[in-house]
Amino acid sequence: MTANAALGAHLQPFAGIPTFMRQPASRELAGADVCVMGVPVDSGVSHRPGCRFGPRKIRELSLLLWGYNNVLGVAPLDHLRLVDYGDVNAPPVDLRAAHTAIEAEAAAVLEAGCTLLALGGDHSISLPLLRAHARRHGALAVVHFDAHPDCWESEFAGHPYSHGTPFRHALQEGLIDPAAYVQIGIRGSTSSANDYADARALGARIITADEAQARGVPAVLAEVQAQMGRRKVYVSMDIDSADPAYAPGTGTPEVGGFSSRELLQYVRGLRDLHLVGFDIVEVSPPYDHGDITAVLAANLAFEFLSLLALQHKQG
Ligand code: MN
Ligand code: MN
Repeated sequence: MTANAALGAHLQPFAGIPTFMRQPASRELAGADVCVMGVPVDSGVSHRPGCRFGPRKIRELSLLLWGYNNVLGVAPLDHLRLVDYGDVNAPPVDLRAAHTAIEAEAAAVLEAGCTLLALGGDHSISLPLLRAHARRHGALAVVHFDAHPDCWESEFAGHPYSHGTPFRHALQEGLIDPAAYVQIGIRGSTSSANDYADARALGARIITADEAQARGVPAVLAEVQAQMGRRKVYVSMDIDSADPAYAPGTGTPEVGGFSSRELLQYVRGLRDLHLVGFDIVEVSPPYDHGDITAVLAANLAFEFLSLLALQHKQG
């Protein structure tokens, strides 16, 4: 009996306890290569909440992932020992306290030598995740998929922490190398004419959804590749980078986004980067329909694992 069979991988998708890809639920990190961590925090959303239920739903939809990636030619779990860490214990009533808890638990996972794949939660969680990663790796190159730059100074009359502000703080705290920070998929109406300019002034290279459409996936990926070089790269995936037709279950949908297929192509195109961390955020099951947003998130997580497996194979 293989290890996976012993753990119940022979079960059908509708049976059993839904850990991520049916891998062991454990906080024993010794020997693990990658750790899936739920971050069920949505206190930072500016509009409709619900992404605290994201991690659980993504796990459920991950049970449909059979294991072999035919495009990348790899079965990630053949090369990576994955544990499902469960969820961070973060209080929903105090975002700063939640961030402190997220950073501490993420740091412990990284110190154990695991690569982290975090399932949000709203995008504010990327700030404590980046703090933990930067402490281990130094300032990071970042590939950030989103409809929104998330570089506001504050929201709701002066509150600095929300899902609209994490990347401003990350840049100002020196967690991100401004020479290697790309935002892909930006679009929609903004609060003012300055939103994009403000993000650019902080160091973001904004590739809008329109620019991406005009240039095509390969050209955008070539630019990303050139800008990232051999730096250590953190990938942050706001599911609202997808069009609401593909990802309605999210808090601040914007029309005119990527299809599921395009997002898969973008993620697969990161294969030659030196990847050190991942998050997928803003999946809000109460606004989803037929779980289409959660199944996209689960599949993007699988692509991330596939990239990591290829990296691992190459040593
Ligand atoms: Mn975002
Ligand atoms: Mn967004």
